[in-house]
Amino acid sequence: MTNKHSSTEDVKASLSNGTPTFWTNPNRNGDGKPGNAWEGQRIGRQEILDAADRFHRFRKVLTALFPELQASEGVIESELVRTQQLQQALGLDLAHGRLYVKADHSLPIAGSIKARGGIHEVLQFAEQVALQHGLITPTNADNISSLASRELLSKYRVAVGSTGNLGLSIGIIASALGFQTTVHMSSDAKEWKKKRLRDRGVSVVEHEGDYAAAVAAGRKEAEADPFCHFVDDESSLSLFCGYSAAALALKNQIAEHGITVNAENPLLVYLPCGVGGAPGGIAYGLAHIFGKDVHCFFAEPIASPCFLVSMLAEDGSTPSVYDLGLDNKTEADGLAVPRASECASQVMRSALAGVFTVADESLFQHLHRVAETESLRIEPSAAAAFDGPRWLVESSAGREYLDKHGLAPYMPNATHILWTTGGLFVPEEEYETFHRRGKELNANAPQR
Ligand SMILES: *Cc1c(COP(=O)(O)O)cnc(C)c1O
Repeated sequence: MTNKHSSTEDVKASLSNGTPTFWTNPNRNGDGKPGNAWEGQRIGRQEILDAADRFHRFRKVLTALFPELQASEGVIESELVRTQQLQQALGLDLAHGRLYVKADHSLPIAGSIKARGGIHEVLQFAEQVALQHGLITPTNADNISSLASRELLSKYRVAVGSTGNLGLSIGIIASALGFQTTVHMSSDAKEWKKKRLRDRGVSVVEHEGDYAAAVAAGRKEAEADPFCHFVDDESSLSLFCGYSAAALALKNQIAEHGITVNAENPLLVYLPCGVGGAPGGIAYGLAHIFGKDVHCFFAEPIASPCFLVSMLAEDGSTPSVYDLGLDNKTEADGLAVPRASECASQVMRSALAGVFTVADESLFQHLHRVAETESLRIEPSAAAAFDGPRWLVESSAGREYLDKHGLAPYMPNATHILWTTGGLFVPEEEYETFHRRGKELNANAPQR
């Protein structure tokens, strides 16, 4: 890991070659402050708190709909795990800090990070409809599981375009609340995801072409129907805010682990990135809590670095990875996105620490490694961020970043968090194939 500090053109060339690339953000401002509006809609601390409140208001309803939430009393949250063995396997010396995993791969209901944004947006829509009809009050949503509410909601449709995991999340929560539900998927989406949805009465429409094509088709169909709410992964503020609420829970977990975060105890967070909504929302929430002391890095497949491409676009546009000659073909189906979310790229432009890309082989190697060392069962997309700490402490661009932001002397106190974003519902047979592939790759290259 020795890439020199690079110009925008060098980074683009490296991306078009499909070389794993580490980029740090020259536009990150001194206080790590993100943007506060998008297309005239305000986003800030209040919107993050509102999303957390909404999840809280729906705890009873969620427990009634999903018995698996009984133990947590309706809270959809994952653990923060100290991963000493994994740290060793990744070769991250303690002189560079301590490694943790934020285990969203085990989030209930959706089995991925999409449980956060997806469920939030559907709850918000359901709440809005039920409020308009006087079935619930602004402070109490319990009645939304009543027969009258279900009858009302069944007149509405929720639709979404998805590579898989967002569709799963939206499909499961929307159908559970009584909505008619349509999930538009690209035809290469995993069969088991389509089946899981169809088993719940969700209508799955398959589209030739990529994820963006599925979204476009879904959006168009929804526009023609006033009773249809389309969850738009490329521009939804509600999704974004749902993700951002994760930061509040993480803040408490960090404290429970006895971890301090301040200028002398930096927090480094590494998040797999597709369209950018999930990592963007979480990084956004964290920036509001920890300011300049949190540094979030996004990880993308070498074939789909759409967020990095939009960070490099100086005019604020979100170009497609196809423009760089890339094909958007990756085993990380949760991240196979050709164009980034405008909302996420715009508000994170001034706060993001950096982005790096990862080859598919590494995903399987990390998937195998984290299973062997920590018994965590993740999907390939969820392994995208595992190279982050090494990029940061070992590459010249990474060391330059540490110097520029005054972190270098404090790295022994650093906390690194790898966000594992999905895996719970991957069928056993499919998981075995991933695991075996990683095992073979690791056997041939024991040193990472
Ligand atoms: C969707 C997804 C991501 C990334 O979320 P975006 O909002 O698309 O950036 C990461 N990992 C998994 C497993 C996902 O399903």
